Amino acid sequence: MTLNRRTFLGTGAAVAASLSAPSVLADGHGKPRVVVIGGGAGGATAARYIAKDSQGGVEVTLVEPSRTYFSCFFSNLYIGGFKEIDDLGHT
Ligand SMILES: Cc1cc2nc3c(=O)[nH]c(=O)nc-3n(C[C@H](O)[C@H](O)[C@H](O)COP(=O)(O)OP(=O)(O)OC[C@H]3O[C@@H](n4cnc5c(N)ncnc54)[C@H](O)[C@@H]3O)c2cc1C
Repeated sequence: MTLNRRTFLGTGAAVAASLSAPSVLADGHGKPRVVVIGGGAGGATAARYIAKDSQGGVEVTLVEPSRTYFSCFFSNLYIGGFKEIDDLGHT
């Protein structure tokens, strides 16, 4: 399958529809579960909003090997001497 804008949006819509119908994922065995691999900007945001928007209806596990995630964004402020390196770290 070729990944183009149409298939990308279609797949995203299918995933969103699945998440809005947790019983489909749950398969009759308790809460549906989502495992997000990578706690960077994208993964942490996805995990946060799946948990928040499902209002506890989806059990979310975030897998991240690093204890602290250092964001690339704002790194210019560190390089410029306006922020400390710890300011870029998120636990
Ligand atoms: C120098 C620089 C400056 C930038 N400045 C900006 C900016 O000002 N504004 C902006 O919007 N964007 C900026 N970006 C882009 C932004 O950083 C990326 O778009 C964003 O970090 C991508 O998020 P992500 O979650 O996809 O990936 P990442 O942030 O790279 O996160 C990936 C995560 O996955 C984890 N991971 C990797 N492999 C595995 C594995 N096998 N199992 C489990 N976890 C794993 C990593 O530890 C990491 O925490 C900048 C990028 C760079 C390089």
